[in-house]
Amino acid sequence: MTHYQSIRQQVIDYSRKLADDGYLKGTGGNVSIRMSGENVLAITPSNQDYYQISADHICIYGFDGTPIAGTLKPSIEMGFHSAVYQARPDVGCVIHTHQDFASALALIAKPIPALFDEQVRFLGRSVEIIPYAPSGTGMLVRQVRRCVQNHHNAYILRNHGALCLGPTPERVYHNVLLLEKAALSYLLALYTEEKIGKIPLPIREIAFAKLRREQKKIEQQLAAQKG
Ligand code: 13P
Ligand code: ZN
Repeated sequence: MTHYQSIRQQVIDYSRKLADDGYLKGTGGNVSIRMSGENVLAITPSNQDYYQISADHICIYGFDGTPIAGTLKPSIEMGFHSAVYQARPDVGCVIHTHQDFASALALIAKPIPALFDEQVRFLGRSVEIIPYAPSGTGMLVRQVRRCVQNHHNAYILRNHGALCLGPTPERVYHNVLLLEKAALSYLLALYTEEKIGKIPLPIREIAFAKLRREQKKIEQQLAAQKG
């Protein structure tokens, strides 16, 4: 299956990088990459140690759940990964983590407002809470599908973890780090019980417009390729 080898290799490389950095805990979390031009994704197998598997173990599936390659069971969250790709043509990679500080905000259901310029530029106007639904369920898929319509690139999954999106694996990895930094700063600031300042609204809108322009450009390029 050489056709998918490059995205399979990238899925395993980024999974290990995220595990090295402590963003993927044990076998928790999952990583997928869209196969450009096809309704197909490469996704981590369920419940596997990222250091014990190789690129050939990465599952290749159609967005409709059709198995294409790989012998292991795909991540139980494949449903929401596929739903994101279908709802958001600008997204080329999806990373779900159980990262510490975003997970703390998942427990107190605190969305992150616009605190930093670069946060809004890459993650969106705010980091919203996706309402609770049990892992691996259709209910969670529906919640994710609905919430990603706001064109943001990071979300907190209530009582679960985080979800980051973006055009490329490099960018989504960067988004995971940005989210964790914003989550930690916000938690520390909340702890002081002092008033928390946000960036000015016009600056927030300028930063978000930059992200939206980039997303629309990708959508236009895809539309042009389809003819
Ligand atoms: P998988 O091992 O099936 O990907 O599940 C991990 C997880 O984080 C579930 O939400
Ligand atoms: Zn999870």
